[in-house]
Amino acid sequence: ESVVNRIAAGEVIQRPVSAVKELVENSLDASSTSVSVLVKDGGLKLIQVSDDGHGIRYEDLPILCERHTTSKLSKYEDLQSIKSMGFRGEALASMTYVGHVTVTTITRGQLHGYRVSYRDGVMENEPKACAAVKGTQIVIENLFYNMIARRKTLQNSADDYTKIVDLLSRFAIHHIDVSFSCRKNGAARADVHSVATPSRLNAIRSVYGLSVAQNLIKIEASDNDPSSSVFEMDGFISNSNYVAKKTTMVLFINDRLVECTALKRALEVVYVATLPKASKPFIYMSITLPPEHVDVNVHPTKREVSLLNQEVIVEKIQSVVESVLRNSNE
Ligand code: ADP
Ligand code: MG
Repeated sequence: ESVVNRIAAGEVIQRPVSAVKELVENSLDASSTSVSVLVKDGGLKLIQVSDDGHGIRYEDLPILCERHTTSKLSKYEDLQSIKSMGFRGEALASMTYVGHVTVTTITRGQLHGYRVSYRDGVMENEPKACAAVKGTQIVIENLFYNMIARRKTLQNSADDYTKIVDLLSRFAIHHIDVSFSCRKNGAARADVHSVATPSRLNAIRSVYGLSVAQNLIKIEASDNDPSSSVFEMDGFISNSNYVAKKTTMVLFINDRLVECTALKRALEVVYVATLPKASKPFIYMSITLPPEHVDVNVHPTKREVSLLNQEVIVEKIQSVVESVLRNSNE
């Protein structure tokens, strides 16, 4: 049974960055205003995510890492939106089958917190009282210690750390009311260090730098015609002065970080057609639409989504981007 669980877990948590994504999303779901990530050896030795969110109640600790244990179902009215959120209660459980998980947490109004470690879905010991200030810290050690082949393919730790920094950068420019940091163990300074700000452009400047932020144009689009498409979109796109060899497309749909290849390709086409220099674009977009219109791919590791009326939505966004680029280019 434990082999089966490990294989399934290895599918949910494919790389260190998949674990970081799940942990940070949990921190955001817990209403944190600050999320700090510390990484050792590309995440294979250690991933530590600390937040100042609402914490985990003592009585929830024994089942925290059981599969399909989630505190979030009550928020979603119908099956369809549960499905669209993906794999409820699967992430932490999976991590305990492929790494050593230690949780330190304190809930509001408590004098002390608790620390407890998990392996293969169960607590290794009774939660121990400990000092804690606010929120939750989750540490994953020795990720894939029991998956030799996986560890081998992940040996380039610089590569995985780059993916983690990229992930945190994306979260930081969307959740601008949250402070993020991401640091390599032993490094003097953080590679992502964003402070909560009311200005998206400020956040983008602090994460991606001035050369990106000073070459952005604000965009907005929406539709409210139930017979074609219902959505709202806002974001920033690069202008003709921006130069890059590859596209950066940061896409959030209903506040979840996702990929939509069709949209990305469609926008790259517009850039090639509209801007003579044909640089690859920088695009940040936040789209909201009815949750039942989003279909997250059945595979847990795929961030790819498909949308109801996707073609209509892609075309509408494409034409907004095109006219904004034309105007800016005149
Ligand atoms: P899901 O997020 O789908 O509910 P997870 O396996 O990611 O499943 O997490 C299981 C549960 O653990 C969550 O529902 C939540 O109650 C709790 N949890 C995990 N991380 C945190 C955190 N950082 N702060 C508060 N609660 C958390
Ligand atoms: Mg989760």
